[in-house]
Amino acid sequence: MAIQEKKVQDYGDNPIEVRDSDHYQNEYVEGFVEKWDELINWQARSSSEGDFFIKTLREHGAERVLDAATGTGFHSIRLIEAGFNVASVDGSVEMLVKAFENATRKEQILRTVHADWRWLTRDVQERFDAIVCLGNSFTHLFSEKDRRKTLAEFYAALKHDGILILDQRNYDLILDEGFKTKHTYYYCGDNVQAEPEHVDDGLARFRYQFPDESVYHLNMFPLRKDYVRRLLHEVGFQEVTTYGDFQETYHQDDPDFFIHVAKKE
Ligand code: SAM
Repeated sequence: MAIQEKKVQDYGDNPIEVRDSDHYQNEYVEGFVEKWDELINWQARSSSEGDFFIKTLREHGAERVLDAATGTGFHSIRLIEAGFNVASVDGSVEMLVKAFENATRKEQILRTVHADWRWLTRDVQERFDAIVCLGNSFTHLFSEKDRRKTLAEFYAALKHDGILILDQRNYDLILDEGFKTKHTYYYCGDNVQAEPEHVDDGLARFRYQFPDESVYHLNMFPLRKDYVRRLLHEVGFQEVTTYGDFQETYHQDDPDFFIHVAKKE
């Protein structure tokens, strides 16, 4: 019987040198993904997000939605349950398998497409009323070329009056105050503690600790809010509105997350 070797996170000898848009394929290893899903209760996540995305999509009359960063399927499944026609994209096959399993458990069938954002329209010919790229996913792109290419692909995959909803962590706060503040982010209670371990203009390396003391990392690009807004405008989006945080965690001055809603028109 063949024994399949489990993938482990490997950042080499100098983890802060790992600044590569392709690395996402190796970051979400099985143990990390399983723990994340097990501990971040989807019910709690739904109530902390509220129905912001669903309301925004409905306000824009969206029916066909592309979930560009499916991950383990949280948003795809929520959107299907809310009545949208959803296509679920991810560049990681492991994630799509996990998402499909999660959907099956909820008696839904996911329409999955394995595609990298940078070449999205090569693999997806359909055009959508809306694209969602959520869960701080855009942060995985480490070069401006990749970010521009991705946004241009999202733009091309939208119908003429479509919208893109893209969220990001508030890195301005971390970059400006430094990670000395050691702000600990708790995801839905105190199950997962996330702390920036290294921050410079080109890298935010986060450490995730779980209750069983296991530790995982993610290397992310620290996106400034106004930089993302500028890129969105520059690839052609006419109107970009940025919101701070979801309703439950709203703090006027320092939201943990920003949500950009960009209109093609
Ligand atoms: N939206 C989900 C959520 O909130 O639970 C998942 C978010 S997870 C942080 C980011 C996802 O983006 C991962 O599943 C990863 O495989 C995917 N991803 C990162 N870079 C990508 C790329 N260039 N093309 C396609 N998928 C990518």
